[in-house]
Amino acid sequence: MVPTPQQFDVVIIGGGPAGYAAALHGGLAGLRIAVVEKEKVGGTCLHRGCIPAKEFLETATVYRTVTGAKEFGIEVEAPVVQFAQSQARKQKVVDQLWRGLQGLLKKRKVVTFAGTGSLGPDHLVRVDDGTELVGTHVILASGSVPRTIPGFDVDGRLVLTSDEVLALEKLPSSAAVIGGGAIGCEFASMLSDLGTQVTVLEALPKILPGCDKDVADVVLRSFKKRGMDVHTGVNVAGHTPSADGRSTTVHFGEQDVTVEAVVVSVGRRPLSENLGLEGTGVRVDRRGFVEVDEYMRTGEPGVFAAGDLVDTPALAHVGFAESIRIVDQILGDPVVPIDYSKVPLCIYSHPEVAIAGLSEEAAREAGYDVVTKKDPFGGNGRALIVGEPDGLVKVICEKGPDGKAGRILGVHMVGPWVTEQLGQGYLSVNWEATPAEVAEFIQPHPTLSETFGETVLALTGRGLHVG
Ligand code: FAD
Repeated sequence: MVPTPQQFDVVIIGGGPAGYAAALHGGLAGLRIAVVEKEKVGGTCLHRGCIPAKEFLETATVYRTVTGAKEFGIEVEAPVVQFAQSQARKQKVVDQLWRGLQGLLKKRKVVTFAGTGSLGPDHLVRVDDGTELVGTHVILASGSVPRTIPGFDVDGRLVLTSDEVLALEKLPSSAAVIGGGAIGCEFASMLSDLGTQVTVLEALPKILPGCDKDVADVVLRSFKKRGMDVHTGVNVAGHTPSADGRSTTVHFGEQDVTVEAVVVSVGRRPLSENLGLEGTGVRVDRRGFVEVDEYMRTGEPGVFAAGDLVDTPALAHVGFAESIRIVDQILGDPVVPIDYSKVPLCIYSHPEVAIAGLSEEAAREAGYDVVTKKDPFGGNGRALIVGEPDGLVKVICEKGPDGKAGRILGVHMVGPWVTEQLGQGYLSVNWEATPAEVAEFIQPHPTLSETFGETVLALTGRGLHVG
């Protein structure tokens, strides 16, 4: 007898941020939810992405703090990196969060199935162990994997992607990071702080594309000051491993660099090839992204997709937001589509970067006449106290009919703890507030966020310290 497929309100393929957010949100609302996950719930973000990467960046911060302790009158011995211990601590943090997530899913009565799921007609999801599930609704959330480049076969020894870097037990003495985007810059920063000689190779004219040039320049200056070799506008043309296999020479432009490891950080590609989809109306574009409309609906009624699998910013919190909107639609609640031009982005390199909305370049390209103001952290008391004066806040506004700063289009920050300070900028951009409106609010003193307050005050023509 053929077993009847198990029936759920929602079947989710993939238990990363997009998948588990849908499960948690739907479970709380009383929906019967199944999640099919081929590895571990938590996905890239928890096991091979956001959390482990930030944990190692924190290790780098501790190293810098100890190294700079003397300036504060604290005598310590020169720090020594024991990366295996850092690796163990990272794993402890990841495992604790993983246990918490599994507990939460159970509490919300989400049923998890271990295996690879594929979708066929009539909302039937087959797990590779033969289990069959039918969802009144199906959410595809199979995420992404690192992109690679021709000529750089990932071997986990000489050529690494983020997956392998985050599993290292010992750091290389030298590394070429191919790609100067957010993840590449985070790795470059971490490796350099912990003693690796780093070369960054970026094909575009500047590192951190998408960030305001003034912001990216601060990161570039800091990287160079710390001894990193940064090349922009260069294409890598392969590499030649040494005879003993302990190093390799990377060729770019007319130049070469010999390193112990190559970190390929050129973005991620959607993982759609294992989803089945034959006989369904779900369409996949030529780059592998599942096509959705602004409500995350695929071409198959009742089937949605979210997260890195769709062509929207590849960020965990974007996946959360998309999934929450999907579940709200399933529940019959009103939903406002996401405005992707205004989602927040944080980069945890040293110095940190945090942005919401348009850069000055992007605003001009979009046809806006703009008024901008930037205020450096060098004049901020707290920044000097913590010994991190490098950085700035830049606010980009639409020029009003009176020539003054109108609606805030973008807030781009670089410097100490800006990833924790973006909230006000994010709200200002999304509320389409003007500097005059935001300047009404009081910033506590002495805080790093006074720099944002000063910048908006200056845009009203009444800066306290900034002209
Ligand atoms: P994933 O997290 O990739 O999860 C998909 C899940 O689906 C996986 O668990 C996979 O095993 C499973 N799966 C795939 N196919 C199937 C199948 N057919 N059947 C069953 N299961 C399947 N984002 C941020 O917002 N902030 C950061 O600071 C940040 N840092 C990052 C640092 C690094 C090094 C990396 C690599 C990424 C980082 N990201 C960051 C991006 C973030 O990790 C992703 O945007 C996020 O994980 C995407 O979530 P997702 O659920 O769409 O996909």
